[in-house]
Amino acid sequence: MVKAANGSGTDRRIHYLISKGGSEALLQALATAARAQPPEEDTLRALLCLLARVGRRDRKFGLKVQRLEATDLILSLARKNLGHHLNLTHCLWVLRVCASSVTAGTTLGINGAMELLFKVITPYSKRHVRTVRAAIEALAALLKSKSNSRRAVNRGYLCGLLKLYQDWHDNDVSNNYIHIRRGLLICLKHITNIQLGRETFLDARGMEILFTSVQDCLSFKNLDPIVTTATQILRKCYPKEPLPVPTVGSFYSFSLPGKGSTERPCMVPEDDYESDGEEEVEKDLDDDDDDDATKEEDYDLETDVNKLMSRPLLDRPEMELKQYEAMCPELSHNFQELESESEEEKSLEDNTENLPSTPSYFIPSTTSMKLQNTQRTQSVTVTGPDPGEDFNVPMQSWTKKEKCRWAQVAEKRDRAEALQDVDSCEGEDMARTHGLALRSLPKEAAWYKQIFNTECETSINPSPEGRLKSSDIMRSLLKKHQGTIPFHNPCFYVSRAECVKSIPDYKFLAFPDFWGHQPPPYGKPMLERKCGVQRDRVLDDVRRFVQPSDVIGRTVFDLDEPSHSSPGAPDCLMFFSTFESGNLRKAIQVREFEYDLIMNADVNSDQHHQWFYFEVRDMKLAVSYRFNIINCEKLNSQFNYGMQLVMYSVKEALQGRPCWLRVGYDISYYKNHYRSCAAAAGGTRRRSYYTLAFSITFPHNDDVCYLAYHYPYTYSTMMSHLDILEQNRNPKKVYWRQQTLCQTLGGNPCPLLTITAMPESKKRDDLEEFYSRPYVFLMARVHPGESNASWVMKGTLEFLVSSDPIADLLRKCFIFKIIPMLNPDGVINGNHRCSLSGDDLNRQWLTPSSELHPTIYHSKGLLYYLRSVGRAPLVFCDYHGHSQKKNVFLYGCSIKETLWQAGCVVDTSVITEDVGYRTLPKILDKVAPAFVMNSCSFLVEKSRESTARVVAWQEMGVLRSYTMESTYCGCSHGLYKGLQLGTQELEEMGNKFCLGLLILHLKSLPCSKQVMAQAALLLDLEEEITDLRTHRSSSNSSLETDDEPPCAEEIDYNTDSCSDGEGDLSELDKEIQECLSQLEGETEGEGVTTGRTCSSKVLRGLCPSTQPSDSNPALPLRSVPLGMYSGFESSPA
Ligand SMILES: [Zn+2]
Repeated sequence: MVKAANGSGTDRRIHYLISKGGSEALLQALATAARAQPPEEDTLRALLCLLARVGRRDRKFGLKVQRLEATDLILSLARKNLGHHLNLTHCLWVLRVCASSVTAGTTLGINGAMELLFKVITPYSKRHVRTVRAAIEALAALLKSKSNSRRAVNRGYLCGLLKLYQDWHDNDVSNNYIHIRRGLLICLKHITNIQLGRETFLDARGMEILFTSVQDCLSFKNLDPIVTTATQILRKCYPKEPLPVPTVGSFYSFSLPGKGSTERPCMVPEDDYESDGEEEVEKDLDDDDDDDATKEEDYDLETDVNKLMSRPLLDRPEMELKQYEAMCPELSHNFQELESESEEEKSLEDNTENLPSTPSYFIPSTTSMKLQNTQRTQSVTVTGPDPGEDFNVPMQSWTKKEKCRWAQVAEKRDRAEALQDVDSCEGEDMARTHGLALRSLPKEAAWYKQIFNTECETSINPSPEGRLKSSDIMRSLLKKHQGTIPFHNPCFYVSRAECVKSIPDYKFLAFPDFWGHQPPPYGKPMLERKCGVQRDRVLDDVRRFVQPSDVIGRTVFDLDEPSHSSPGAPDCLMFFSTFESGNLRKAIQVREFEYDLIMNADVNSDQHHQWFYFEVRDMKLAVSYRFNIINCEKLNSQFNYGMQLVMYSVKEALQGRPCWLRVGYDISYYKNHYRSCAAAAGGTRRRSYYTLAFSITFPHNDDVCYLAYHYPYTYSTMMSHLDILEQNRNPKKVYWRQQTLCQTLGGNPCPLLTITAMPESKKRDDLEEFYSRPYVFLMARVHPGESNASWVMKGTLEFLVSSDPIADLLRKCFIFKIIPMLNPDGVINGNHRCSLSGDDLNRQWLTPSSELHPTIYHSKGLLYYLRSVGRAPLVFCDYHGHSQKKNVFLYGCSIKETLWQAGCVVDTSVITEDVGYRTLPKILDKVAPAFVMNSCSFLVEKSRESTARVVAWQEMGVLRSYTMESTYCGCSHGLYKGLQLGTQELEEMGNKFCLGLLILHLKSLPCSKQVMAQAALLLDLEEEITDLRTHRSSSNSSLETDDEPPCAEEIDYNTDSCSDGEGDLSELDKEIQECLSQLEGETEGEGVTTGRTCSSKVLRGLCPSTQPSDSNPALPLRSVPLGMYSGFESSPA
């Protein structure tokens, strides 16, 4: 019968049994059998077998045992049978199942269960192995209770366990007893959950013992469970340390307006800072309460219907809105200039003077214009391969054409300068004038000499100190620049970068931003995770503790102590990050080719470490360098799921391959032993840190390389990009206005763009059509670390001003209001999440402060204004990057979906909702290869009530209000499945978004016949959509909406997950089964049994599902305390 119960229906049958009071009945039966004289040993064993199997499936088993006061019964049975190993083993199984409830386990511990077990667990021996294993497993279960752990430590059991483990490890040379060795480790794992356990473990040289034993096991695949558990213990017991920085707060601070000092109360950590279990609340959590992860998520949903449906009042006096009229010149423009272009030129300088806080439009400096001349001359004379053809840049045809137009426009715009000698810029040391220089290049390197050959060298005169002036370097470099990177111009970049106001007052330009990035013509697959990569990294970390003499520990870069940075130290890399968007605080050489790196916190904050961007040089060829970024904060990372960081090689760039590439191998992300010390964190909870470990083999000797979290896109890149776009556009067709929304806290202008089609003519009808176009409001980069959002925005902008006929049509459909970078200060200063105020700007939309959050305050003001004149946008979209998920997707807002998800009853007669919010994502799912509809969500969370998306939806009444999330990693579905996204794919997303808007317009809005006809010509819509649909359906057989599955390896050693198979008792069934089948044939030690018959007899009375006849009534199911029973006598040895 027991055997029969092993089939597929086992669980179902046992659960049925449990629901009918089976556990209680078995316990009662056990008590009766134990009382019988002479003891019915067979029945007892059969009952114990069943109890073990039923009990492990009964979540309330521990409680039931407690209630029936059966703990003592089980203990006394075990005591009586110390000499009878078969009976004892059965008792121990039940003991283990009981102990898996912490409260029952604690009672067992108080009543001496551990002492009993220590009598059974022996040093290495081939005798009674099954009993020893059962005892170890029961002990492990008992040690889940912290009070048991404390008792065990106090009685010296921890040292005993260590000795036992070492003994079994040393003697079990053929690896026959892996279960026992691992069982002992699991005991140690639980016992070290308490502080006292960890201290005792360290004192007993546990780190050394386990580390050494692990080294012996590494080469045997079947010992992986041992290695995994030992590694978990090593990680946990590794003494916690503060980060090696003077303060966890940012190195940079900013004096906020209205506040005298730069001191700022530390922010309360977000909810994702889980408690470590270190400030030991020695309270045991029983596993009786079922908590459901999905329920926790739903808890955040806004279920207050009134709140969901209300529209809050203005957050400012209504008369303030008038100032935003100036930001909508398109609504009052009279288009006199349609006659002459020169007037249109003049109107570029917008009349924003009536806004006291907004400066006038920035015009590139004279120097930049001169440089531009140089560049132009070059772009005419240099004939290289057109990258537009090779690299599949969107709108290839246009790129070429517009390049010429750019030259024409530029010529017209600065006729004066054009008359001057092109060489005049060479006489000027612009780098010195403006205090911004390019990082020096390794002139001693052979490759450098090769590239800058003799011809160049003779033209460059070294200064008296023997150092080249940076202007000379820049000039000679520019001669090398092919000028073939679309929408990038190094001279424009320099002139923009010179105007940037940064807290560190940057003196240097990073080479990649200056030189430009050209995406490679192929997608990079996601990195396959090698098995055990994290384990190896963690063990390397542990080695530092066990073998401290191994560690160099030399600081080679330090913002806090610049003198500590030791340039020229032999055989070590040099680091640098004090440039726009740069982020690196400290670098420590740990071993010859291994460095620990520390990121800087966001300005005026002590957290948000994620974004990094730094320069590294003096590397050797063909050496694998390991880097550990040791102060990451997120609980998990896409770096565990195939994502790589990006690298830019200066030598590669100078050889014609200027691009950021996905690099790095053996990438792993895991919790480390660093904690922020309580004092530095302003008395808030202690915070754990995570390590991002990766290895890189650099492509060249003595190169200069840049490493970053994701493809950088600086504020200067954006500003120079806008310059180029403005000059590229066709002013007869494209209405383009660049204004300044406001100045940021750091004094940088935040640009606001208006793009639409010029009216066909000055005729009344055409002008009316122009004025009445619906608005689309787009913005990006409120979170500075989300540079992917900027690349998507770049794609959108390039498409919108392009001469592509679809763009042409789109401009006729909408007026676009675009804020391409909402947080310039954050981007400039290398922040990840916040602005200079230390606030997450995308949590300020409900009540933005005009002083502290000017870009949000004025963006919201502009939206209010549009609403007040009846022109609330048709679509609002805020571009973001997502670090935990793959693909590109939208978050939107729906009352009904939110209420449904939260399980609320929705009265559809009261709540009506336009489902139009789903149209755009559905379209994008069909037209944009990286976009996945199934990843979209339309829920309104309480924690998101102050985001742009929710506020635009609720306060401005924008039905189609979205956050667009682009992964940092890659796609799990569609055309790009398995690939990491590059800038090309991100830009493509930006222009497919535009295409989506056009289709939305055609589908949802009344269109003029003319537009429809044009659209029909341009896009064979139906066909295009069907094409994509068939393509996608073939590759998207099973869409998943969840985040990543659990990582192959434990990121956090404190989570008591079941992944290692110790939490669940599924192996117990197997063990019991093995024992029974063995007993059927032969005997183990003493005691012959006919267990099968007995258990059949017992089961017959218990299991109604297998015995429907009521001739055998079930045992009474009342809960009656069992009291003490004599139990069966121990058999003679
Ligand atoms: Zn974001």
